[in-house]
Amino acid sequence: MTNFQDLFESYNWDDVKESIYSKTKNDVEHALHTSRRKLEDFKALISPAAAPYLEPMAQLSQKLTLKRFGKTIQLYIPLYLSNECTNICTYCGFSLDNKVRRKTLTEEEILREVHVIKSLGYDHVLLVTGEANQTVHLEYFKKVLNLIRPYFAQVSMEVQPLDTEEYTELIPLGLTSVLIYQETYHKEDYKKHHPKGKKSNFNYRLETPDRLGQAGIHKMGLGVLIGLEDWRTDSFFTALHLNYLEKKYWKTRYSLSFPRLRPFSGGLEPKVEMNDKELVQLICAYRLFNEEVEISLSTRESEKFRNHCVQLGITSISAGSKTNPGGYAVEPESLEQFEISDERSPEMIANMIRSKGYEPVWKDWDRVMQC
Ligand code: SF4
Repeated sequence: MTNFQDLFESYNWDDVKESIYSKTKNDVEHALHTSRRKLEDFKALISPAAAPYLEPMAQLSQKLTLKRFGKTIQLYIPLYLSNECTNICTYCGFSLDNKVRRKTLTEEEILREVHVIKSLGYDHVLLVTGEANQTVHLEYFKKVLNLIRPYFAQVSMEVQPLDTEEYTELIPLGLTSVLIYQETYHKEDYKKHHPKGKKSNFNYRLETPDRLGQAGIHKMGLGVLIGLEDWRTDSFFTALHLNYLEKKYWKTRYSLSFPRLRPFSGGLEPKVEMNDKELVQLICAYRLFNEEVEISLSTRESEKFRNHCVQLGITSISAGSKTNPGGYAVEPESLEQFEISDERSPEMIANMIRSKGYEPVWKDWDRVMQC
């Protein structure tokens, strides 16, 4: 297999879905007790048959997470640089057909935002933009990385997919990780949700993690948007993707995130609902399947839910997030990409983490550690 697309094409969505929904109690018990879990075990753990096993799954997930990560939770914060976007995505407040005022931060504005973020204690920032190749392009990213590099130990990016050579240019400028969510692995539904713009190219997006691996990125994040399609089947394909990448690009670290669709201005209703218990099941299933992967939970989730999940298998959370460009200092009132649910300050989140006996970590890696 030269890239993930070849492997992906060898699977059929409906067959995978049927296989997950036909898993039995025996399959779940085998998955819980085996020492080396395979993709078939992961299917069992995310299946409806595993719902009565949430308690043993949670206990095992907690044990494995403590063994690998200790009592720590990493903290990061998004910095929205631009809401300009030439794509139509049915689930996003920045979609081209959504009539909002567009803004891309200038260098001076970025520094104002950075100073607020630094005053909150952060050393890990996630840069976020829409996809607007005329304004938010490689040269802009290079300029931003050079500008903010002195302020942060870790800089992650969630922007449009780039070519391998472009990633190769950005890594020496301080880019440590890239988040690239497939949104859904259901090819036909992907087209419905991305009818216009470069993002409508399913395969280019699917191959992005391969390009990141070839560029030698330190860490990459995978995931789907829960609510677009059957979450169990989408999660299987995410696990398949992770498995493939870990074997092929073994020097890279991996993280997962599975945001649930949130309300936004002019918003889409989820096609598939996932309740809190099912999200806990999914977090635990990923941890049982993969002891190394980092699992992130954003401010999309509620205060109560995030408090509960700290001890279950997640390893990083955002706090105090603004999802609009200029949201921290420049234009706090501009339109957000989506509504956040947990509005607590970073300090309150850090205190909550400590109250559970865990240590909030503002920086877990530094570029000086790179060979
Ligand atoms: S999800 Fe990204 S690409 Fe799609 S409309 Fe929103 S900002 Fe643009």
